Amino acid sequence: MKAEPAVQRRLLDLADVDTELTRLAHRRTSLPEHAELTAAEAAVRTAKDAVVEAETNAGDLDRDIRRIERDVEGVRTRTARDNQLLAGSGIGARQATELQHELETLARRQSVLEDEQLEIMEQREALEAHLGHARATLDAAEKEVAVILERRDTALLDIDAGETGRRRARDEVVATLPDDLLALYERLRSRNGTGAALLLARRCQACRLDVDRTAISALKAAAPDAVVHCEECGVILVRTAESGL
Ligand SMILES: [Zn+2]
Repeated sequence: MKAEPAVQRRLLDLADVDTELTRLAHRRTSLPEHAELTAAEAAVRTAKDAVVEAETNAGDLDRDIRRIERDVEGVRTRTARDNQLLAGSGIGARQATELQHELETLARRQSVLEDEQLEIMEQREALEAHLGHARATLDAAEKEVAVILERRDTALLDIDAGETGRRRARDEVVATLPDDLLALYERLRSRNGTGAALLLARRCQACRLDVDRTAISALKAAAPDAVVHCEECGVILVRTAESGL
């Protein structure tokens, strides 16, 4: 294949742009924010689970509290009724004794219920503090996700802008290249990751290996418009005044 030296040199611009595009694509997938986001989202899930668990426990305790309140209310009503009966006239001695017994039983029951009530209220209070803490943890975790998302989106926008600029530059270079040379470059690039490189001081800038004596003689003998390759890595070697030939 043949191409004017000036045209061949444009392959170096194309290779530079492609290196930048590759770097940006790598940066896009390897942003630290991706891993940070995964961890922060896991923290949100854990915090949510803790809140749900605490809320469920609080609901259970609230139900217990209402049940005890109903029981206490029942005992009070019964006690008031018994007291009223006792105070009233027209009851016999036996009934009065029975009522006294019942009032004693009701008083003991009330005392047990009140102890239970006190204990459960303390549990509920402790749980409320725990719930507050769990909600604060969830809130902080959600804020952290938002902060990381914003940072990630800013980085992605930056990468987008970089890529847009490079693609435009690439299109401009590509438009000036003959089809066959471009096709060769693309084929080599898809195979090696690099399509063309400068021969700098007898060294291929793609594989960083010195070109051996025999190959240098061949390169010297090659016409300036001949498209030549690195024997080691296969890329198009672009010769310039810096090539050391
Ligand atoms: Zn090479």
